[in-house]
Amino acid sequence: MADPADHPPVVDEGVADAVGGDPDPRTAPTTGRPHRETTAVRGGRSGSGEALAPVLWASSTFVTPTVADGRRLATSTTAERFYSRHGNPTTADFESLVAELEGAECARAFSSGMGAISAVLMGLCSAGDHVVAQRQLYAGTQLLLQTVCPRFHIDVTWVDATEPGAFAAAVEPGRTVVVFAETPANPRLDLVDLEELGAIAGPLTVVDSTFATPLGQRPLEYGIDLVVHSATKGMAGHNDATLGVVAGSRELLDWLWSFAVLQGACASPFDAWNGIRGLRTLAVRLDRQCASAAALAEVLEVHPAVCDVRYPGSPNHPQHDLARRQMDRFGSMLTFDLVGGMDAGVAFVEAVEVLQPASSLGGPETLVTHPASTTHVNLSPEERSANGIGDGTIRMSVGLEHIDDLIADLTNALEASGDPAR
Ligand code: PLP
Repeated sequence: MADPADHPPVVDEGVADAVGGDPDPRTAPTTGRPHRETTAVRGGRSGSGEALAPVLWASSTFVTPTVADGRRLATSTTAERFYSRHGNPTTADFESLVAELEGAECARAFSSGMGAISAVLMGLCSAGDHVVAQRQLYAGTQLLLQTVCPRFHIDVTWVDATEPGAFAAAVEPGRTVVVFAETPANPRLDLVDLEELGAIAGPLTVVDSTFATPLGQRPLEYGIDLVVHSATKGMAGHNDATLGVVAGSRELLDWLWSFAVLQGACASPFDAWNGIRGLRTLAVRLDRQCASAAALAEVLEVHPAVCDVRYPGSPNHPQHDLARRQMDRFGSMLTFDLVGGMDAGVAFVEAVEVLQPASSLGGPETLVTHPASTTHVNLSPEERSANGIGDGTIRMSVGLEHIDDLIADLTNALEASGDPAR
């Protein structure tokens, strides 16, 4: 990676203050530092005045009163009132709220999780650089690393993230620029030891923390350099926004900005607004989802049609101790295998009624996917297995429906999966 100091982006201190700024005296608690759950409810409203709801700035452009203002704002990494590809007041509110929740100096929002991830990888790496990535990743990230990075002569070494020391062992001093991890990881909910990852010296460490959200874990506290999220998921939380975000140091985010502003994957202000709205209720949604996920895991763990249930909050998860160490909440995702394989998987998703077959996660609705017959149908069983996907693997995003309805529908669909002719 080129040294950010080679091309220092122009930072307008005045605007920077407006983004980060001191807490609004009307909303800052008078005693101590608020809990993250409180920050999530109260933050992200720098320009809202007396309004309780955040203000949505839909404008794509802003008047620049003088030529000098235009010149200054055009190159400022924090210009939120210049042109909305560069920055936008509503988007900046979302970014500063995420930064606060992650314990980061700042954050940058993108049009999707993949917008954020591609900005990190393509913005930080140049031809000849080397990336270490874990084998089991969200399929989009994996494809980016497998098919796009080689076209730009960025080499990738894949590691088994659950093997202690695997990331550090794959680092090539002087050549590895990024170590990319995802935890909990898609689809088998394997965990990466954040303490071990954060101790790697040299390359930048990046963690996709989508499955956890900032109220589930905070990778930056372990020395990770950048945390990325598909805020489309739990953070926005209602299946009505497509949004990504990266949080970390101002130096790194300023550096990324120079790429992001040309990449053009800027967040839509409306989706950023939906992101703020989602964060306000994230704590209660997540608590409910975690409780339901734990209850469903218990049902699945003793069901004869099921094997290999994975939920980080379950004592039976192989990395449960690690989950307890580094996660505050265990998340809304669980994965299990149907002993009946492919036919059982198809029968299961066709039998659900309260649960719904759909991709995505972290929203109010409980969603199930059978990757072998849908998202990963074009891969061979061997290729699927390398991605942690068996013929009978079901991935479930637990929503907010009544737990009794979820258990009843799950049990019914499991019975149907054991008897595809039913
Ligand atoms: N990271 C993870 C872990 C995901 O599950 C997803 C999407 O499912 C993404 C990134 C990509 O996010 P988006 O769909 O917002 O681009």
